[in-house]
Amino acid sequence: MVRFEFLGTGNAFLPQGRYHSLLLIEEQILVDTPPTVLASLRRRELTPSQINTVMITHWHGDHIFGFPFLILDQKYISDRGSNLILNIHCPSNGREKLSNLCEIAYPGSLTDRMKNNVIINEDLSGDMLGVDGWVFERFEVVHDDFVDPHGYVFTHKSGFKIMHTGDSGPCESIESRVGSCDVVVIELGVPDNVVVPTHFRPETLSELANKFPKTMFLATHHYADDINSGKKPYLSNDLPNLPDNVLQVRDEQKFEWKDTKLKIL
Ligand SMILES: [Zn+2]
Repeated sequence: MVRFEFLGTGNAFLPQGRYHSLLLIEEQILVDTPPTVLASLRRRELTPSQINTVMITHWHGDHIFGFPFLILDQKYISDRGSNLILNIHCPSNGREKLSNLCEIAYPGSLTDRMKNNVIINEDLSGDMLGVDGWVFERFEVVHDDFVDPHGYVFTHKSGFKIMHTGDSGPCESIESRVGSCDVVVIELGVPDNVVVPTHFRPETLSELANKFPKTMFLATHHYADDINSGKKPYLSNDLPNLPDNVLQVRDEQKFEWKDTKLKIL
């Protein structure tokens, strides 16, 4: 059995009712560290010291700018004894980029934490550090080349496979892997009237989902407001119609994979 949940489901523009897209697996693996990462963990009543492993997809601000706050909390609040190692899997130059980010945010304050408590791994595949029973593969996707965009396939020892596309438009590297995955966490960054190669939109996501009817797609990094948030819409409260094997996830939605079935908790 594997449990995972969405601590945030919004794109960079923070649609109403959504924090930045953030996937949490088994309460200890985060995919990315968006600006809202601390708010997301607080809302879920989890502490940053419970996070052992971070899988970074690419270097855009809505995916990484929360990193200094995550380790600031670990250093001064949730892991004052400095017992925790935070394992980061990321594309190249990770140590330099994350250290620069911390240095801009809190000059000098996080240097020791980065040196002593953060392990950076830039391998393209292997065991997921800091957790038991998971391996990963990272692969290039189509997004802004300046931010070294990647997606991941995470494989649990039970055989369960979950892909996280990161930010990407349709591409062969995603499509060639979808068929072997049980669940695909896919971004839906823009509406249909924004035709760009760097993001999925409802039409292109529908095409992909229709090609792979046995795979469950969970659409996150959404461009539209959460229509059930109870707040005044800000960007668009018009959710697109998508195939039956696509679920447009909401913040704080939890899932369980058990006996080859996906269950919403
Ligand atoms: Zn991006």
